[in-house]
Amino acid sequence: GKRILSGVQSSGTLHIGNYFGMMRPSLSLQEGNDCYYFIANYHALTQLPDPALLRQRTFDVAVDFLACGLNPDTTVFFRQSDVTEVQELTWILSCLTPVGLLERCHSYKDKLARGMEANHGLFAYPVLMAADILLYNSQLVPVGKDQKQHLEVTRDIAIRFNNRYGDILTVPEAMIQEDVAVIPGLDGQKMSKSYDNTIEIFGEGKPIRQKFMKIITDSTPMEEPKNPDTCNVFALYKLMATPEEQAELRQRYLAGNMGYGHAKQALFDKYSEFFAPMRERRKQLLEKPQLVEDVLQDGAARARKVAQQTLQRVRQAVGLA
Ligand code: ATP
Ligand code: MG
Repeated sequence: GKRILSGVQSSGTLHIGNYFGMMRPSLSLQEGNDCYYFIANYHALTQLPDPALLRQRTFDVAVDFLACGLNPDTTVFFRQSDVTEVQELTWILSCLTPVGLLERCHSYKDKLARGMEANHGLFAYPVLMAADILLYNSQLVPVGKDQKQHLEVTRDIAIRFNNRYGDILTVPEAMIQEDVAVIPGLDGQKMSKSYDNTIEIFGEGKPIRQKFMKIITDSTPMEEPKNPDTCNVFALYKLMATPEEQAELRQRYLAGNMGYGHAKQALFDKYSEFFAPMRERRKQLLEKPQLVEDVLQDGAARARKVAQQTLQRVRQAVGLA
């Protein structure tokens, strides 16, 4: 087994891009590996949400991840802010991180381009992420493609550290599944909590159906053949449908005589069916907030043990202990 680490920000409601890009691959690694999965609420703070909202979102992410199949008996599941050791490691790693390395990060440049304020936290985000990964001696990190560069930054920092202080940190590897590397959002760009283009995992009722109907397609008329391989609706359908179902819808695209409204309805039906069992589990969890809190507390205690050991080695190595 390997040490696996995975995190998701509590920056909004979890969406199917998070599910297929990160959560499902992470969940499938639970058996036979040593997994540390966490809710990145320090990272979410870079957007300075209202305190009550940040707390609520953090709880919601915990519930959603558990509902999707996280097994807290085997997986260490915790809130980032419950293991404050990560902040000390962040500082130490910061001192080894060239500013230019962070200036080149696409995710930062992207968020600026979208009008987010450039606070230092947002800029230093990849260093905190490196600390998250290195603190737990992680070997494998399942992520979407958007995190590929950040993983390279982490490796770079770990290698710098080891070159200077000896073989202290485990140099991790990203695990990116090509078929789910970038799940498109309603507008065809990467689905992101902060882009307002998401389909929530647990959306309900009319509003969520309306979202499916808003997915951007080309304007090929109803009667004409359509290309499934360039269509966002089909790309999302593929994630949830069986190979037979995919072949059948593909056929209808190619044959023409099917409007995009029909494909969207098929996708919506598939989505409702796919997440139904998890939706059920989620309802049960929502009735037991104390159980969710206990899981996170227990996870924090287990995570802290590893964190303290790594931090002790690091403090010793750099001359702080
Ligand atoms: P934000 O907009 O606040 O950055 P996000 O939607 O990008 O939120 P994160 O919490 O940053 O979500 O990412 C959590 C995990 O989900 C990461 O591993 C990331 O790579 C993955 N992920 C996020 N969006 C997608 C997507 N559209 N396709 C595939 N993976 C994704
Ligand atoms: Mg993101």
